[in-house]
Amino acid sequence: GLQIGIVGLPNVGKSTLFNALTKNDVLAANYPFATIEPNVGVVGVPDPRLGKLAEIFHSERVLPATVDFLDIAGIVRGASEGQGLGNKFLANIREADAICQVIRVFTDPDVVFADDKGAPDPKSDIETINTELILADLQTIEKALPRLQKEARMAKDKQEKVAAIEQAQQLLEGGTTVFAAGLDLAPLRDLHLLTAKPFIYVFNLDADELSNDELRAELSALIAPAEAVFLDAKIESELIELAEDEALELLQSIGQPESGLTQLARVGFDTLGLQTYLTAGPKEARAWTIRKGATAPEAAGVIHTDFQRGFIKAEIVSYADLVACGSVAEARSRGKARIEGKEYVMADGDVVEFRFNV
Ligand code: GDP
Repeated sequence: GLQIGIVGLPNVGKSTLFNALTKNDVLAANYPFATIEPNVGVVGVPDPRLGKLAEIFHSERVLPATVDFLDIAGIVRGASEGQGLGNKFLANIREADAICQVIRVFTDPDVVFADDKGAPDPKSDIETINTELILADLQTIEKALPRLQKEARMAKDKQEKVAAIEQAQQLLEGGTTVFAAGLDLAPLRDLHLLTAKPFIYVFNLDADELSNDELRAELSALIAPAEAVFLDAKIESELIELAEDEALELLQSIGQPESGLTQLARVGFDTLGLQTYLTAGPKEARAWTIRKGATAPEAAGVIHTDFQRGFIKAEIVSYADLVACGSVAEARSRGKARIEGKEYVMADGDVVEFRFNV
């Protein structure tokens, strides 16, 4: 699946959050045959439609879509110049599809601050991390560019790519991330630039500040138009140890309707440009993850590559129509079940049954 890497300064709560992500047992509970990698945290994306489908189809269980979080890169000021663990650590998140930056807002005097500060300074922390990621990308470009420029002198088809990389270099030198600049990412893809990835921000707050709307607005303004998640990493690590009713009670006591991990999964899902289609039967009601714009055969391929290869057609009822009709049979008789072919572009919430050759 698509994966999100976590970055942040020391002592901001990355490990605490990541531990909560990896201990979260959505995989173990729902996907008994999945391999669980120790360095990947998997979080279910809550989807009330699944419960409704499970009612209609009398499904035994419900399987939500998931978002994967992988690995952490601790970054200190000067990391790109070899301070701390430096660029070696950044290598772990190069393959990630998005980057989640954790920012300390909690005040605990027992936990020392990075950069010798005495109080949280989210604005400066965000700038520090941004600068280090930008410098790391500039190094990547400086390493790759001379060879590419040489090749482009012989091969005209490479000139466009080189021009795109040079443009990215200029923007980075001016302090802009590649993603924020809105560049065409295709010619830059092989470089795995860190700032070309979409960003999500996690503000790690003291629990009693989680409902402070003024503070939330201030912090959101620092990173707009990117999306923010507000949580208390320490509480998250407690929540995953609790039974569902106890967890709800704890959330209520801090005025939160749902866990930070759940919010993070949803924001991650949106940021990665994903959507879900649904399948349902007596065994399970399940959400499957596809990119926006995926065709019906591509969607089938998420279930099994054979389904994509042998795709014939898909019978599709929209979630809203299915709920209105109450059953697939009724949807068929009211003309709400469509037969779609290879060219069909999936819509979020399509309830699907594929027909295929094996
Ligand atoms: P990392 O260096 O970013 O991975 O930070 P850690 O997750 O190791 O956290 C550093 C210290 O801060 C640990 O002692 C955590 O228990 C503590 N910590 C992490 N998150 C919170 C939080 O939300 N509130 C408080 N009070 N302490 C936290």
